[in-house]
Amino acid sequence: MCDYCGRSLGTDLHHLVSRGRTHTAAAREASESLYLFSWLCQDCHIGSNNVHTRDRTQVLLAFNASLFGEENVRNALAEVNQYLRQPIIMEEMEDGEA
Ligand SMILES: [Zn+2]
Ligand SMILES: [Zn+2]
Repeated sequence: MCDYCGRSLGTDLHHLVSRGRTHTAAAREASESLYLFSWLCQDCHIGSNNVHTRDRTQVLLAFNASLFGEENVRNALAEVNQYLRQPIIMEEMEDGEA
């Protein structure tokens, strides 16, 4: 299912660190991480109201953290961030969420 809406099939592979942000092969390679991928439906991925925004990136990071563990996602992001001009900062997650 789509990682964002959960209503439609997740058919599209989305990179949380977009190609536009990675300017070197090393950055690109670091961004190719299971922890930094999302599976989305077409509407959420390329529809008029798609996930390519700052806020929605945070939602997807939090989703991956709940799936794979926050530590893994943060580490993967830190790995990419060292190559980025503008690092992506993952917001603090609230404790006690199911
Ligand atoms: Zn969707
Ligand atoms: Zn995408």
